[in-house]
Amino acid sequence: MSVKTIKAAIKKFDRFLISSHINPEGDSIGSQIAVASLLRRLKKDVVILNESPVPHTLRFIEGADNILKEIPRDFRFQAGLILDCPDMTRIGNVSEHITEDNVLINIDHHISNENFGRFNWVDGNVSSVGEMIFDLFKAFRLKIGYNEAVALYVAIMTDTGSFKYTNTTSKTHRIASELIDVGVKPYEIYGRIYEANSLQDTNLLGEALHTLKVTENGKVSWLWVTKEMLKKTKASLEGTEEIINFARSIEGVEIAILFRETGTEDKIKVSFRSKGKADVNKLASFFNGGGHATASGCTVFGKIEEVEKKVLEKAQGMAK
Ligand code: 5GP
Ligand code: MN
Repeated sequence: MSVKTIKAAIKKFDRFLISSHINPEGDSIGSQIAVASLLRRLKKDVVILNESPVPHTLRFIEGADNILKEIPRDFRFQAGLILDCPDMTRIGNVSEHITEDNVLINIDHHISNENFGRFNWVDGNVSSVGEMIFDLFKAFRLKIGYNEAVALYVAIMTDTGSFKYTNTTSKTHRIASELIDVGVKPYEIYGRIYEANSLQDTNLLGEALHTLKVTENGKVSWLWVTKEMLKKTKASLEGTEEIINFARSIEGVEIAILFRETGTEDKIKVSFRSKGKADVNKLASFFNGGGHATASGCTVFGKIEEVEKKVLEKAQGMAK
């Protein structure tokens, strides 16, 4: 389906619940805020509901305060607009509010998307859902306002690794250029998100880097964040997002892996990044996860050493 089908679907309904994945990042938060604004301009009733809170580095986005963790008691909705989620389990406990009567509109850029909606607009070739919401503004012929531009810029900047990942296209840059013309200041947004680390989170990076290892052939690198490290440094799990990039940045590495203890006994969050040759969506799917060819994740149960062994075996098989 295309943006036109989604435009037609949106026109049919008056009340929307917007949601996105647990542990949200820039694309999820920015896209939800921008699409909520679009819907409100169309005079729709909208609630954004997320299981997880907005990360503190994204709270500066105008509208972030309107992302709720509890649904207003008397709010009834016809359509659920689900962004940046390959499947419905990713919205966590928000799914408890969705019934058979609700129509689902699925807007996503994960190749692993299960097309779970009545209306599915899934395009694995775009950098971010932010780009898709930009196209939706165009389809409705709505002029993008400053706050909407900031939200979309955050979505696109974060999912492209600041315009450097393989998903960055000339269109990505044309969209960014248009958002800058609306008034977005790239330096300011970058600073808000990437130059706002706490000392605690930076100390955690130091601890994690001590665990960094590379396989004999140099193609797989991995590192850990344990509960103990979090306790010692008083860092937040939220602050661990960028750590994996240090593992990927090593010359010759094809696959980088981050193992994080979640705080729940024997539940390890595993993140994968690839430089492009290895398909880490496939790697994550061995462990019931998913994502993109170059960035994916999964949850594996077991002690961190056991999980490491299992996952490394598979990863080495894919990066020969
Ligand atoms: P991250 O490593 O930053 O948590 O996630 C990287 C990418 O993988 C994101 O696009 C995210 O949606 C996807 N991803 C992370 N964890 C999971 C998971 O457990 N299941 C699925 N299906 N996708 C995941
Ligand atoms: Mn995304």
